[in-house]
Amino acid sequence: MNRQLPLRHALSACPHDCPSTCALDVEVLDGQRIGRLRGAADHGYTAGVICAKVARYAERIHHPDRLILPLRRRGPKGSGDFEPITWDDALDIVAEKFLAAERAHGAEAVWPYYYAGTMGLVMRDGINRLRHVKRYSGFFSTICVNPAWSGYIAGTGRLAGPDPREMARTDCLVIWGTNPVNTQVNVMTHAARARKERGAKLVVVDVYMNGTMQQADLPVLIRPGTDGALACAVMHCLFRDGHADWDYLARFTDAPHELAAHVKTRDPEWASRITGCDVATIEAFARLVGERKRTYFRLGYGFSRSRNGAVNMHAASCIAAVTGAWRLEGGGAFHNNGAIYHWRKTMIEGLDACDPSVRQLDQSRIGPILVGEADALCGGPPVTAMLIQNTNPVSVAPEQDKVKRGFARDDLFVCVHEQFMTETARMADIVLPATMFLEHDDLYQGGGHQYIQLGPKLVEPPGECRSNHEVICALAQRLGAEHPGFAMTPRELIDWTLRESGWGTLERLEAEGWIDCQPSFERAHYLDGFAWKDGKFRFKPDWPNVPFRSPTTCGPVDQIPPLPDHWGVIEEADAAHPFRLVTAPARNYLNSTFTETPTSLQRERRPELMLHPDDAASCGIADGDPIVIGNPRGEVRLHARLFDGVRRGVAIAESIWPNAAFVDGKGINTITGADAIAPFGGAAFHDNRIWIRPA
Ligand code: SF4
Repeated sequence: MNRQLPLRHALSACPHDCPSTCALDVEVLDGQRIGRLRGAADHGYTAGVICAKVARYAERIHHPDRLILPLRRRGPKGSGDFEPITWDDALDIVAEKFLAAERAHGAEAVWPYYYAGTMGLVMRDGINRLRHVKRYSGFFSTICVNPAWSGYIAGTGRLAGPDPREMARTDCLVIWGTNPVNTQVNVMTHAARARKERGAKLVVVDVYMNGTMQQADLPVLIRPGTDGALACAVMHCLFRDGHADWDYLARFTDAPHELAAHVKTRDPEWASRITGCDVATIEAFARLVGERKRTYFRLGYGFSRSRNGAVNMHAASCIAAVTGAWRLEGGGAFHNNGAIYHWRKTMIEGLDACDPSVRQLDQSRIGPILVGEADALCGGPPVTAMLIQNTNPVSVAPEQDKVKRGFARDDLFVCVHEQFMTETARMADIVLPATMFLEHDDLYQGGGHQYIQLGPKLVEPPGECRSNHEVICALAQRLGAEHPGFAMTPRELIDWTLRESGWGTLERLEAEGWIDCQPSFERAHYLDGFAWKDGKFRFKPDWPNVPFRSPTTCGPVDQIPPLPDHWGVIEEADAAHPFRLVTAPARNYLNSTFTETPTSLQRERRPELMLHPDDAASCGIADGDPIVIGNPRGEVRLHARLFDGVRRGVAIAESIWPNAAFVDGKGINTITGADAIAPFGGAAFHDNRIWIRPA
């Protein structure tokens, strides 16, 4: 008999690592189960649209493979042989091991490690409260935003830009280095409105003919890591053809005459040789941007995941300053709105207990750190104990062979608090079952928009799952860590944080659903001056002193070109490695999340390398053939997919598949590098030279 379950709709926010942070309308069936998820229709940015993988979230939250009990390792590390234990026993063991590590090597031997598996402020960042109070090794977060954010801030001085909803009111939308059809669908909603209502043109700059490129009026297909050359050539044309706004340049920029003289030699022929893009396309791009003053540059993360990524981001952001597009609604350059929220996170993160002299270990360098490379350890003690929440470094971190060797160390104790038995959890000594976002209360901010949103607890978690906050507080008690934040509930933390940050109260947020934090038009468009003392956009950034939160500079900062340029610091192809590999995001996965859901797995099929048919022919490879790709960091086995939507010499592996999905268990990050990008670190996931052979 079909029993009709009581149904209610509730608001939430997508917690996943995606700039859209969609406002969700959730079907709650009976307090235990959910139905379909939809985009909240009256949310100004989400506008009723979310991606398919989150719409079918019931597949993930009610998955039969969810972890529901605490587990202790019984067999060898990585064997997957675990036995259930009680929560009290599990937490006692973790606390005992952390205290023992502290006694043997000092508090810095313990390294709490986390990332953006949830973007909720309470559940993601609360681990920092424990590490600050206990003076454990710091976590220098580098794996995602550093080159992109520092490159953008290098020009504007602040991580904020024109209202993202203005994309619907532009005459030309330039989507640069991001594939919103795969990763943040709402950008396409606003693009469609601008096209329909204003006849706007869509320009997309990317390294392969992905779903977004296929929708463009002008797809600009370039080689990876050559965006700076493209930007310089566009600016060359703008100055040459009288499209530079000299009044704006004089009032709002630092060195317009130097820039004009500099790009005089960076013409489309020069850029064509570097980018692989034909001269006519570069000219057409410049003409569109020059003639349509109301041009909105939506600058993504993808093109920053390169050793010259910060320079490329900055170069792309300079174009809007040359045309003066910032003056107009629907004009300017947007990357992320992180700076508009002015959070006070003292209670969530225990910032009042932070000692800046404690070492900060680089998240992206977890491989070199765990195998004991002295420079990666900043000259300090080895890491011998870890607590991991919200991330899966054995799959997602670069230089995977080192990461795996590190996690296999007998003298390393690891506790992983997770939703599924990920490849990192498999390497743990203790595995704790974690709640999902609809099973706890949390607070979210949009990166790609300007709303604060609430994600309330809507259903009970399965089995014995506990939230990150519960685990952190329970460990703090056992470890003797004291801070008022450990005694607060998530709702109290949310209320405190909203009040102290000037955003009202939890009660107000619950009543209104979300808070629109969009600054005034003048401020968002920097018409009151860019965020530097003299108010001028920087064509010539002072790179080491760009105001980006970082304990140190990284990489060859002193070699960064003074003005926008093509910086040839990338892993160029050479005779032994004639191809350049990009590890772009797959449509049905989000990093390693959703690689457990049946529909996503079915749609992505298997790990493949997309390469040009002429390149394949020259290597003796046919469509569907098993192949091996490699470089000095290692080798990966997958299957060839012939695809003529890339430049010759470029290969794309849409990821991130579990390592176990590859023929010999070595995932794509076996061949990505962990060397830190200038100026403030990061991993160059899309900047790899490789060879390709038939398997
Ligand atoms: S588009 Fe991004 S933010 Fe929106 S539902 Fe999908 S993953 Fe979440």
